[in-house]
Amino acid sequence: MKLPIYMDNHATTPVEPRVLEAMEPCFRHFFGNSASTSHPYGWDAEQLVAESRNSIANIIGAASKEIVFTSGATESNNLAIKGVAAMYRERGNHLITQPTEHKCVLDTMKYLETQGFEVTYLKVDSTGLIDLEELKKSITDQTILISTMFANNEIGTIQPIAEIGRIAKEREILLHVDGAQGIGKLDFDVDRFGVDLLSFSGHKMYGPKGVGALYVRQYKPRVRLVPLMHGGGHEFGLRSGTLNVAGIVGLAKALEISRAEGDSEYERIQALRDRLEQGILSQLPGVTVNGHPEKRLANNLNLSVDDVEGESLIAELCHEIAVSSSSACMSGTSGTSYVLKALGLRSDRVQTSVRFGVGRFNKAEEIEFAIEYFTKIVKQLRQRSPLPHPKNT
Ligand SMILES: *Cc1c(COP(=O)(O)O)cnc(C)c1O
Repeated sequence: MKLPIYMDNHATTPVEPRVLEAMEPCFRHFFGNSASTSHPYGWDAEQLVAESRNSIANIIGAASKEIVFTSGATESNNLAIKGVAAMYRERGNHLITQPTEHKCVLDTMKYLETQGFEVTYLKVDSTGLIDLEELKKSITDQTILISTMFANNEIGTIQPIAEIGRIAKEREILLHVDGAQGIGKLDFDVDRFGVDLLSFSGHKMYGPKGVGALYVRQYKPRVRLVPLMHGGGHEFGLRSGTLNVAGIVGLAKALEISRAEGDSEYERIQALRDRLEQGILSQLPGVTVNGHPEKRLANNLNLSVDDVEGESLIAELCHEIAVSSSSACMSGTSGTSYVLKALGLRSDRVQTSVRFGVGRFNKAEEIEFAIEYFTKIVKQLRQRSPLPHPKNT
């Protein structure tokens, strides 16, 4: 067993060997520029891109020309949201999202607020779900876009996209979905879910980093965007820049494998996650599970641990298990989890949350080790420095 055990698969995933194998020839042989039309080096590269585009489109129920390759979900989200805002500004200046979105959506929204747009942040309940009635009520004649994540990256909560899609369609408002955490793991069809724009990323599904895509609906309705990147007019004019052929091949391969093996993998990972959850909870009092009990990604386990100090906990855990924490010191970002705060969690439980993200390559023995190690550390910390029982602060 290699320590620390990697259980931070919401942050990123290791590259699947079959993905790496598919990418390698792109570096060794097919190094052409896919925009070079005057020789076979370019044709070969273009062929690989076209096949990848086709394959990805098929998997999500789209047409090839609706897939725009980007550098990842951050860029896809920026392109979708800023692109719609700039293009449809004449029609309205109101956008709707939720407070538990990824930073790249929230910061994009904040930026648009400085540019004269108005943004409604829907409340989420204590499990992280939005309220569909509140969504309906928040729509005005100025609303041009609803942007919601598929699954949350901290607590795994899965939003009811099909229902949101129906509401958006009724009111003829565009729906953008940040699918970074759900695409690959769960079946997704852009028509069935009523989605007009869909972002996803290679490195969250055992593909390479620095590559992702944005689905842009071209029929009923034809969504138009103002691009972020101007240049050679690549990607239907929506994203100029020489294509990352190897990355694109890797993204397609990663998605193909994830969907081909997705359902059985989902069950296997869910069993591992459930064992982890049950193993820890049965041995440790004062531990609560954050997120939705059922509508939650199968690999997600977000725990709050009472009567320990968040920073000490992660400082101890990191040598043996690689997990993520919202404690201020270790997370490398500013402050505590705004996602857990949005759920209305007690503030000490926000401080001491630990996120496990079980992955494709985790073994049962690693789960057993993690249960034992986590339990041991928490017990030790509680003995060493007994904190007064946390008050509602
Ligand atoms: C990781 C992640 C992103 C950002 O994706 P990148 O490809 O790293 O830019 C956006 N949204 C969610 C929900 C994510 O988990």
